[in-house]
Amino acid sequence: MGFQFSQETKTMKCLSCKTGEPKPGTTTFAMDRDGVLVVVRGVPALICSQCGEEYFEGKVTDDLMDQVKAAAKIGGQVNIREYTAA
Ligand SMILES: [Zn+2]
Repeated sequence: MGFQFSQETKTMKCLSCKTGEPKPGTTTFAMDRDGVLVVVRGVPALICSQCGEEYFEGKVTDDLMDQVKAAAKIGGQVNIREYTAA
């Protein structure tokens, strides 16, 4: 699905535990912004099999921030949404 680092995945070592190898998967991202807890599900990430550290592609991070901003504008205490690529 067009992972930027897919060619390096086999040799990429986790920066956190230095032993695990992050593998493509999806995760749930949560961030408190302007008093709104924004939860985004189904976010593509590389996830370390050892320590669970998550790595997001640059474009995914940009999309995430856009969606967090949009959700914070709507307001409320909690906003839960599915990740959508821009
Ligand atoms: Zn790790």
